[in-house]
Amino acid sequence: RMAAKPHATLGSLDVLPEEERRRLLTEWSQRPVARPMDRPVQALIQEQAARTPERIAVTHWEASLTYGELDSLANRAAHRLIAGGVDADVLVAILAERDLRFPAAVLGVLKAGGGYLPLDPSLPPERLARILEQSRVPTVVVSPGQQALLEEALAKVGGPRPAVVASGELFAQGGLETPPPVRNADASLFYVIYTSGSTGVPKGAMLDHRGKLNHILSMIDFMKLGPDDVMAETATQSFDVSVWQFLAPLVVGARVEIFDTELQYDAPRFLAEVERRGVTVLEVVPSLLANLLEELERLGERRPPLQALRWPMPTGEVLPPAHCRRWLRMYPHKPLLNGYGPTEVCDDTNLFVIEHPPAEDAERVPIGFPLDNLEMYVLDRRMLPVPQGVPGELYIGGVGVARGYLHDPARTAAVFLPNPFASRPGARFYKSGDVCRYREDGALEFVERADFQVKLRGFRIEPGEIETTLQRHPRIKQAVVLVRELGGGKELVAYVSLQDALEGAAAPSRADVEAELRGFLRERLPHYMVPAALVILPFLKLNANGKIDRKALPAPDADLF
Ligand code: ADP
Repeated sequence: RMAAKPHATLGSLDVLPEEERRRLLTEWSQRPVARPMDRPVQALIQEQAARTPERIAVTHWEASLTYGELDSLANRAAHRLIAGGVDADVLVAILAERDLRFPAAVLGVLKAGGGYLPLDPSLPPERLARILEQSRVPTVVVSPGQQALLEEALAKVGGPRPAVVASGELFAQGGLETPPPVRNADASLFYVIYTSGSTGVPKGAMLDHRGKLNHILSMIDFMKLGPDDVMAETATQSFDVSVWQFLAPLVVGARVEIFDTELQYDAPRFLAEVERRGVTVLEVVPSLLANLLEELERLGERRPPLQALRWPMPTGEVLPPAHCRRWLRMYPHKPLLNGYGPTEVCDDTNLFVIEHPPAEDAERVPIGFPLDNLEMYVLDRRMLPVPQGVPGELYIGGVGVARGYLHDPARTAAVFLPNPFASRPGARFYKSGDVCRYREDGALEFVERADFQVKLRGFRIEPGEIETTLQRHPRIKQAVVLVRELGGGKELVAYVSLQDALEGAAAPSRADVEAELRGFLRERLPHYMVPAALVILPFLKLNANGKIDRKALPAPDADLF
């Protein structure tokens, strides 16, 4: 689909003064850093395990695994997977809870040479089936708790079915516990993560070892992570954010503390756990940060000191300046780290440390500066650099750009483009869809999206995917999905018109149709993509361009949801 609004660019110069060109294309746009890249992530973790086998690696509530135990489990898994044909560039899906065994399974896949595809157990079977089909993944590892879900999903898969390996079998004792030699190459698949796709089919971004290693090592250097750090593993395994949360601490001998997703809905308990577990790195989406701020303000002087916390790190969506002011009022010596980046370029690509409360009239806080070995370009529609201060679309290049979307050459070609500014042959960059601009100090600011994609509570959503799904329902004639303010927060609202008017004695009630449509969406989409409100209208007005006139849609009544 075409961009919703032309990103407001404006008067970019064909010929920039040489000095400005140098700043835009060299000084601000990149941070080349040379560091050894010859050992893949799983080998670095294995070496750490050999040095400190007794140290705690991962904790989930009262249960934990030492580095030695984690590494043995991963080795067993690797040998089992190798025996089943896994090798470099072969994908293995993992459908399992986010518990101690999850990182062991991931490391097992990596040691076998393969790349992993996390499947979120909270997805409906229909959705899992589509991902299994689209990815053509040959092997699925499943935990005992998710076997029934997998059965249900497999029953809906058309075409060849993957081989299933129960995790009991994956980690069975009696197998080899010595590590296999490194089997992947730099360019081998590390993971595939699916994100919402506007055409109605999710797309799987393929990230490679080199990019992820660069990301993890850059984050470790920037944040000076060491063995005393404690990472709160807050992200669901199907988010790319979970990858570094699990693996970066293990590279440096630190501890991973798994935070169950449910905890996020309970700010008092969440904070108590951060304090009790001595978390030093806490990555939260700004909407969760808002809940935490409310609780901390309520506690007043009784709020926890969070002595251990070094990096409160909001990422994944716009960070409102007011959140920063509120945080720094309570914790003036704990700067916030704003992290920005798309799944298509290995998670975070930009970082900005917020030490001082932003001014009352500040509209935004910067997303900041590029991570090591990444390249930023703010370009106009002709793909020419725009001057400092002028908004343009952000294109991201360097080490970490995904290979593309799995089995989807068309969508890959649309956003992974040849990078004309790089001297390396074959260099590509990712067209992010984010409109950004440079501040005077070279920090980037996120301005807006160039398309309809939204972030809600940290979840990346293409409303077009919800619309396409609705359109597959036989009752639907037109459908538009928007984000609106509802009852104090932002929510998804679906506006639909129906093929047949709800008239006559035989017609179902409006409430029945709403329930039917909602059920239809729930069966096919992740829970966060099911609109909070559904508005049935006689017709959706078209504008002069023949498109649905979004501005003409009424605000939903408060009692609609
Ligand atoms: P992640 O790598 O965090 O999983 P996603 O692929 O889910 O990222 O979403 C990336 C998009 O989210 C970006 O293109 C941008 O639109 C938005 N985004 C992420 N972080 C920020 C941020 N700190 N400020 C503003 N927008 C952000």
